[in-house]
Amino acid sequence: MENDEAIFISALSQYAYCPRRCALMYLEGEWEDNEYTLRGTLAHQRVDLPEGMVRNGVRVERALPLWSERLNLVGRADVVEFPEGEPPYPVEYKLGKSGGRLSSEIQLCAEAMCLEEMFAVSIQRGALFQKSSQKRREVQLTATLRQAVEATVYEVRQLLRQQALPPPVADKRCPDCSLIHICMPELPIRLAQLLESSEGQV
Ligand code: SF4
Repeated sequence: MENDEAIFISALSQYAYCPRRCALMYLEGEWEDNEYTLRGTLAHQRVDLPEGMVRNGVRVERALPLWSERLNLVGRADVVEFPEGEPPYPVEYKLGKSGGRLSSEIQLCAEAMCLEEMFAVSIQRGALFQKSSQKRREVQLTATLRQAVEATVYEVRQLLRQQALPPPVADKRCPDCSLIHICMPELPIRLAQLLESSEGQV
């Protein structure tokens, strides 16, 4: 829809991790730090400096603004390397357990798709940098991953239009989620159990 506001690239990874988390953050403006998000903030503070530098002969841009008119996305890349004569190479910083593998890859791929549109190039690879281990893992930006990005953009847009909070996933993602105390994922299950037991007594 033409009048839709642009979606933050970060909302895609939050949605891929848990749709309810995405809704709490982007519909209701909830945010709460835990160990993982605090570490993430510190990690990102190091890269959120909008300045270029040259490392081993490669120009490196930090906190590069990104956008895609086709997907109506906006955001910032942690790091983009510009090797001479090659396409830009995005690097997304990640920490600990604060996100799933697919959600990180979706964010990285969305950043690459923005760069492709901005620089009219084709980008086949990017990398996730794990702060805790200081290791970089290269990610192939496959057709399947690109489809996952497009599907997530569609689903996030639907979520923002509907303005409704999805049900909690209430699974192993929750203990690591900084919004667990706001979300209370067990509450709907407990209420259903209470309702069931009270109906059984009638
Ligand atoms: S606590 Fe669980 S259900 Fe709630 S937002 Fe976090 S991951 Fe999603």
